[in-house]
Amino acid sequence: MTDLKDFEFDELCAFLKEMGEPRFRAAQIFEWLHKGVESYDEMTNISKATREKLKKTTYVSTLKIREKYVSKLDGTVKYLFELPDGNCIESVVMRYHHGLTICISSQVGCRMGCRFCASTIGGLCRSLTPGELLNQVIFAQKNIGERISNIVMMGIGEPLDNYENVIKFLHNVNHEKGLNIGCRHITLSTCGLVPQIKRLAGEKLPITLTISLHAPNDGIRDTIMPVNKRYKISELTEACGEYAKKTGRRISFEYSLISGVNDSRENAEELAALVKPLHAHVNLIPVNKIKERDYKKGTAEEINSFRETLERRGVNATVRRELGSDIAASCGQLRRKSMESEGQTTENNKTVKTVKNNKNEGVNL
Ligand code: SAH
Repeated sequence: MTDLKDFEFDELCAFLKEMGEPRFRAAQIFEWLHKGVESYDEMTNISKATREKLKKTTYVSTLKIREKYVSKLDGTVKYLFELPDGNCIESVVMRYHHGLTICISSQVGCRMGCRFCASTIGGLCRSLTPGELLNQVIFAQKNIGERISNIVMMGIGEPLDNYENVIKFLHNVNHEKGLNIGCRHITLSTCGLVPQIKRLAGEKLPITLTISLHAPNDGIRDTIMPVNKRYKISELTEACGEYAKKTGRRISFEYSLISGVNDSRENAEELAALVKPLHAHVNLIPVNKIKERDYKKGTAEEINSFRETLERRGVNATVRRELGSDIAASCGQLRRKSMESEGQTTENNKTVKTVKNNKNEGVNL
């Protein structure tokens, strides 16, 4: 059985043509799917005969809300969604003055092994399909009842480790008959898979690319991000330059400040020298404590002084405002909590069994 949301628009047209349906039918169905219908029977302008024919080989996928939390502090909404195979992912909707922004997951778990991140602790279970990527936006929007205008791919998983499906998803959300969310309203965050960054530069999808850098040199980055053992910072910044040149979009960098690890004045100066040639913006994130690791954030003064050093060196930097702090809104925490409450661990649960060999020490890319 095929999920129709795994097709790009042109693929859907071709598929329906095979069934003897005209192109405008594909447009009608595509529109229904993006409105969040949960069955073919809701597609009231499609004939019963066509609906029955579709039901034989395809289905309309949905996403179940397993848990939902709304922050009393800032209205941030966090969903624990249940996928058809029982696995869970997280999506977060944040309220900004420019509209609703959704942070979506790209995989169930992650194999990148970043030391400070909760999403990677159980390793990778599987990648999300194009339909599952899209359903997070569709069903959050339907549940909230307001238009979601921005997407950030910063939830669980490494989006560039799920390259083909992410590209299909981007084409679909961007499509005028779909959710019609412009590339300028979409941000993809990556830990730095260099070949995929170069490939993305050629896709004619001028989305904002943000790099999770978190260290000003290879010595530090090697110890907190195993991906750096595969792709060094110099290769990463070279790929960023290529992306910026080809797409005309400025890159930005994420830098989680971890007390005593990457937050000294020297670190700030080295970081400034590294990113200045790229005219990049730096988002500073006070590291979120996760209970499995003992990384700590610095004081507000230390964080601010790091930012000031960057600014003095001519680099734009902002400290990210923490949203949804009362609902464990940062990535991977809710899924881990739910796995723990069900007694799921890497050792005894089949949903994460596929990663038994992934020790998260060095990534095999
Ligand atoms: N894999 C992608 C996207 C998911 S992580 C990436 O690496 O960019 C989204 C962002 O949250 C990344 O910058 C990641 O490094 C950061 N992050 C993860 N855990 C964190 C924590 N405990 N504290 C602060 N930032 C964290």
